[in-house]
Amino acid sequence: MIGRDAQRNNILAARMVADTVKTTLGPRGMDKMLVDSMGNITITNDGVTILEEMEIEHPAAKMLVEVAKTQEDAVGDGTTTAVVLAGKLLENAEKLLDQKIHSTVIAKGYNMAAEKSLAILQRISTKIGKDQQKLKSIAMTAMTGKSAETAKEKFADIIAKAVSQVMEQDERGVSIDLDNIKIEKRKGDGIEDTELIEGIVLDKEKVHSDMPSNVKNARIALLDIALEIKGPETDTKISISTPEQFQAFLDKEENMIKNMVEKVKKSGANVLFCQKGIDDIAQYYLTKAGIYSVRRIAKSDLEKLSRATGAKIISNLNELTANDLGKSAIVEEVKKGSEGMTYVRGCLNPKALTILIRGGTEHVIDEIERAIKDGLGDVAATLQDGKIVAGGGAIEIELARQLRKETNVKGREQLAIEQFADAIEAIPKILAENAGMDPIDVITELKLRHERNEVHAGLNLFENKIENTMAKGIIEPLKIKTQAIKSASEVAIMLLRIDDVIASGKPAPSRMPMGDEY
Ligand code: ADP
Ligand code: MG
Repeated sequence: MIGRDAQRNNILAARMVADTVKTTLGPRGMDKMLVDSMGNITITNDGVTILEEMEIEHPAAKMLVEVAKTQEDAVGDGTTTAVVLAGKLLENAEKLLDQKIHSTVIAKGYNMAAEKSLAILQRISTKIGKDQQKLKSIAMTAMTGKSAETAKEKFADIIAKAVSQVMEQDERGVSIDLDNIKIEKRKGDGIEDTELIEGIVLDKEKVHSDMPSNVKNARIALLDIALEIKGPETDTKISISTPEQFQAFLDKEENMIKNMVEKVKKSGANVLFCQKGIDDIAQYYLTKAGIYSVRRIAKSDLEKLSRATGAKIISNLNELTANDLGKSAIVEEVKKGSEGMTYVRGCLNPKALTILIRGGTEHVIDEIERAIKDGLGDVAATLQDGKIVAGGGAIEIELARQLRKETNVKGREQLAIEQFADAIEAIPKILAENAGMDPIDVITELKLRHERNEVHAGLNLFENKIENTMAKGIIEPLKIKTQAIKSASEVAIMLLRIDDVIASGKPAPSRMPMGDEY
């Protein structure tokens, strides 16, 4: 397949990906039910989740999935927008190809349009600083229409508080590490019982009921090794022929474990978090020593605990000293229902936070987690540059309008710039379509209002009407839009430049434009 065929085939594949997620865009968008080969079900509205779970083989289609991932990594929201935009840019490029306009000309026009768009967006965005109310509005816009909708006021409050708390500011500006915010999920109760906790919450109870239920002035040891002799992974072969030998073996084993616990105790630790197992004998000695112990903690949680309490993660017990221990005001087991959770509060690092998500079923909790993460990403993006734009398609209409007005390139590139502007308008069009409104009427009306200088006129899909969305608090971070334009235009241009798909023989490294199927 060479030349036009290869190009058309790539465009078609990429467009199909965009078409799949299109119906999920916006507050009236639908959800997708994803079923994997094991029969596991995910119900979601989240662009990147849908695309990651889909089995996509075509190399060009895979590149569109990369657009969603880039968007997710850079902002944490706006994945559907970015993918839809990329699909639309390619669809419109095809119209130009039909008119015998060469793909390099289209690529050049798109490139100019993208650069211009970024400049226009900077200019027409609004500075808000750290206004908590606005931050809440941004979080709410992110969650509108998702499962989180019913409790979005409360979630928005949690999100705005959490992000503001982990924010750091110095001469170089604002930096936010969302890894400081741990998300823990627990089935049971309603989603409105979701809470923000200062400290780290683990969905684990202490290993033995006779251990203390709370430890004040906790001195915390973190281990990434097991407190047992033979893990299930290792298959130790021992030859025992007499009962005495067997007893000797057991004694030796017990002694080794006793020694291990002794080392923990000697360090001065009164709390132990272990990434691997803690066997019965170890539990016995730890209980005797009054050490609150939890086993099988995820590595990522161990790292969060390390950051929160200042503890060093230890792999060799001989190296454990008092200096390696972390600190917190209290470690306690909190019973919610029949199972307990471990709360580590008053940590050395006050930036350690946990959002504990509650909900009736796993599917609900997972989708709420995705919605909350969108909100966290959006609020963080806003605090980083302090700039927002009007949602509900307002910014897209204004951007397209200014782009058409400002660029007047002689030659055929101008046609590509106009198609670029049309592609941007696809966002409000799809928002309207998904809400059951007439897209043509809506776009016509929006354009008219913007011509009359109503720069924030957009779709308010709470009431299905056109109005000033900025004033209505339907607002989004500028970064969602700049990032979407960047990654969507990049991938469209890249695909337009390809005129041949060749089997390269050697497996390509991942994240390369050409997949390894060919
Ligand atoms: P994405 O994956 O791109 O974030 P979403 O499904 O979250 O996709 O939809 C985002 C779009 O929905 C944005 O264009 C945003 O402005 C719009 N939107 C959010 N809330 C509203 C609302 N209440 N009325 C109109 N549009 C809204
Ligand atoms: Mg979103």
